[in-house]
Amino acid sequence: MSAVTTTYFGIPGYVIFWVIFALAIGLFLNRMSQLVRYMLLGRREESYGQIVRRALKTAVAVLGQWCQLKNLTFKDRASIGHAFMAWGFFIFIVFYFIFIIIGAGFGVSETLEHTSFFFYYAWVMDIAAVFVILGAAWGIIRRYVVRPSRLKGEQTVEAMVILVTVLIHPVTHLFKEATSIALGHPPAGLGAVLPPISSALSNLFAGSAESTIEAASIGFFWAHWLVVLFVLVFIVYSRYLHVVASIFNILFQSPPPKGTLRPVDLKNAKSLGAGRITDLTWKQILDLYSCVVCGQCQELCPATASGKPLNPKELIQDLKKHLLEVGPQLLKAKKEEESAGNSSGELVGKVITEDEIWACTTCRACDNVCPVLVEHVDKIVDLRRNLIMGSKTETARDPLRNIRVRGHPWMGTTLAREDWTQGLNVKIMAENSNVDILYWVGCTEALEDRSIKIAQAIGKLLNQAQINFGILGEEESCCGDPARRLGNEHQFQLQAQKNIKILQNYNVKKIVTACPHCYNTIKNEYPQFGGEFEVIHHTQFIAQLLKEGKLKVSGGNGGLITYHDACYLGRYNDIYQPPRQILNNLPDTRIIEMEQNRARSFCCGGGGGRMWLEENIGKRISELRIEQAIKTKAQTVATACPYCLQMFEDAAKVKGVEESLKVRDIAELVGSMSLLT
Ligand code: SF4
Ligand code: SF4
Repeated sequence: MSAVTTTYFGIPGYVIFWVIFALAIGLFLNRMSQLVRYMLLGRREESYGQIVRRALKTAVAVLGQWCQLKNLTFKDRASIGHAFMAWGFFIFIVFYFIFIIIGAGFGVSETLEHTSFFFYYAWVMDIAAVFVILGAAWGIIRRYVVRPSRLKGEQTVEAMVILVTVLIHPVTHLFKEATSIALGHPPAGLGAVLPPISSALSNLFAGSAESTIEAASIGFFWAHWLVVLFVLVFIVYSRYLHVVASIFNILFQSPPPKGTLRPVDLKNAKSLGAGRITDLTWKQILDLYSCVVCGQCQELCPATASGKPLNPKELIQDLKKHLLEVGPQLLKAKKEEESAGNSSGELVGKVITEDEIWACTTCRACDNVCPVLVEHVDKIVDLRRNLIMGSKTETARDPLRNIRVRGHPWMGTTLAREDWTQGLNVKIMAENSNVDILYWVGCTEALEDRSIKIAQAIGKLLNQAQINFGILGEEESCCGDPARRLGNEHQFQLQAQKNIKILQNYNVKKIVTACPHCYNTIKNEYPQFGGEFEVIHHTQFIAQLLKEGKLKVSGGNGGLITYHDACYLGRYNDIYQPPRQILNNLPDTRIIEMEQNRARSFCCGGGGGRMWLEENIGKRISELRIEQAIKTKAQTVATACPYCLQMFEDAAKVKGVEESLKVRDIAELVGSMSLLT
């Protein structure tokens, strides 16, 4: 950086520096090449287009630290420390590239070293050093003093080594500059305006002998570079691999819509789902490298919170550990026989337990919160696919058989799909398909005793608003969401193809549904099979009708209401405002938010096919959520999903609050107050 750098080396110094430098780069590249080769053992991904757009998004997420700061909450401010550290490092990294590539610090380009660029950069690095020190100190205090629950058990030597070296690194830089200034070699072109921190530190050397300061300067220079090279190597051998991997993970993040599962090519796929580590795609393996073990996913996971064996952080770490263990033999096997997969062993049973993968509600709390965009749900579903389609489990047998045989997952229902329409003016498409909108009722609202009231409320509202709508009635079949999330891709694809054909035969363009699972599937996943429809959730539709004055509400007393964000509406589809707009429109109603709301909402426990599975490990997820609702002292929990409604009504009964805390779908609340226009 300054002229004094030329004195850091004699000829032996140059040689030693370059040997150490080459060794560090060699170790770094060797490990990276090994990790990339492991990654390429995974299955191919579909091609990644729009690389410029992706690169810009990545730059914003990484340089702006948006990936971290998106999780900033009043309670958890760890992302600020991380952002400070990262911003400081980016500035250092730019300098290292210049320093190494053009050799300015080695006396190769004395001219450049004396340009005004370095004058300004000396200032910037002074401030960057403070950023890194603050960020590292923040990290050490949080991890070792505050010890938040998500970092429980993470006070490891590895974590301490990296945090301490990250702290030492900018300190050595500041002292290197300070001794340089003390020796009368301020950064070129600075004149009287010296970098504030290092010039202040230079006062510590006032009165010291020049030879002492020179020795200290050389010592700080070497200490600084040794720390830099140590960190370079350490990150690729430790969990700090995320520093490199996460940038690529963000670059190659799954294309929207969020949470959409990859279709399986059932005719040509070599394996159905993920039975072995090599059945993961290369991007799924990159996910494993990117995890920073921050525990944010574990903190929001309803399965972990309710005492189930699933912990999304550990799931990722277990898969990574397994990959690193079997990686060398996989590479060897591939070289010898071109059949690497066979030598890695089954994942379920050996690496992950069945209970773990069935505990997931596919709520996406983990995917959504992860700062480095690791996706958990796709891996869990791939593991389920392998069990289900490989006939390796009895789990979920009943709902899947029901879908196959009866077209819906409900056991023992005595209702037919059109029963709820009695007394209402509802067109059945087979009789009259001259409609503007198709109301997709969904299996639960059509066939489950309590939920048909939601369908009836919607039917009334649509009639009141004079909407020309119809239903498929007996022609409607399960959208396929439970089958897909439970791992039966084959059954899902049959359902999807059948439904798409029926909808296309009626030339349906616009669909309204009150089930977030149907909404998500038809809107985001049917396009994978050629089904393109405009799909609207009933909360969006009702909000629009209220806004346009086609529905008016009066009378009634909504009282204090808390709204539960359904996972497939909120985290999957970003529909947070319309339900709240409706509730805000209801007379004499006040909304109070639960502790966890919007993107951090807590699942009801019914997603991912869990609605039809026993919940006999740990606490019931729905009861944990209803406890959050009870805390608000609301009189009503408003829902916008039939699964949530059913889960909460059961939970309220168990908690003995069914009289004081009513559970109502938003359509029912509006229906109880609406007047004809
Ligand atoms: S999707 Fe939900 S239940 Fe499944 S691992 Fe993630 S946070 Fe846990
Ligand atoms: S998967 Fe993401 S959120 Fe979970 S521990 Fe790893 S980095 Fe953190």
